Amino acid sequence: MTDYAIGVDLGGTNLRAAAVTRDGKMLNKIAGETPVGAGRNAVISDMVVSIEKLQAGLPGQKLVGVGVGVPGFILMDKGIVVGAPNLPEFDNYPVRDEIEKRLGAKVILENDANAAALGEKWMGAGRDVNDLILLTLGTGIGGGIIVNGNVLRGSLGMAGEIGHTTISPNGYPCGCGNTGCVEKYASATAVSAMARLMNLGHDLSAEDVYHLAKGGNERAGAIFECVGVSLGTLLATLVNIFNFPLYLLGGGMTAAWELFEPAMLAEASRRSFIYRKNPPRIERATLGGDAGLFGAAYLPLRVD
Ligand SMILES: [Zn+2]
Repeated sequence: MTDYAIGVDLGGTNLRAAAVTRDGKMLNKIAGETPVGAGRNAVISDMVVSIEKLQAGLPGQKLVGVGVGVPGFILMDKGIVVGAPNLPEFDNYPVRDEIEKRLGAKVILENDANAAALGEKWMGAGRDVNDLILLTLGTGIGGGIIVNGNVLRGSLGMAGEIGHTTISPNGYPCGCGNTGCVEKYASATAVSAMARLMNLGHDLSAEDVYHLAKGGNERAGAIFECVGVSLGTLLATLVNIFNFPLYLLGGGMTAAWELFEPAMLAEASRRSFIYRKNPPRIERATLGGDAGLFGAAYLPLRVD
């Protein structure tokens, strides 16, 4: 009999779930049927059905528990989610207890970016270190900090919101209320916005801008240089504060790695004497979209 856990990722448009063994082997992976924004009951039913489907495919094996990565703040001791714009009706609802009741299995919630960082630590690019930071560059910038193999949560579970680090005090306004957050300069959304401002086109995706830059368009190239300088500024700060051995970048934007890497490393070096003295590893994450699934599955396995 093999022990396994189920990791659920609520972070994208549809729910995804995977069964993972104690030694990190992914046995099966499925996607839910319901859009994640479809409302509380629809999302919870979809999650329960998906988990039961995975369980049915593994007869005679022992489900240790379920971990759920959620795009919002988690109050761990209460098992509730607060401030998740993609999950209407979840605020202050006892989601953990509700799923536990319906499944009869232990459930642990975690912020989705933290779960991804934990996944990279457990089975990805961070396997050989105990301390790392993962930045996920997508429509926004998510962050997860792993210290001594554990997620750094802070007093209310809100640590690791690295995407809202100020890199330009009077810069672009951000939805969080601040101006000049790094996610306004280095996310896919930021690349599209800069393309619009630079008259490259009104509805260009980050991928469109990437192809323009690869084709030799100088303004498109300058956008990715701005991305690199912005990430380098952030990384210099992180290196100075944490002195970790490894900083990982994941998410769709890393497809443009070769376009922003030179400016990113030059800027990190320019701004951080710790970096210059002893450059840490700054690398692409390796698990892609599965990082959150591995990390979520690891939650019940590690405490059992
Ligand atoms: Zn912000």
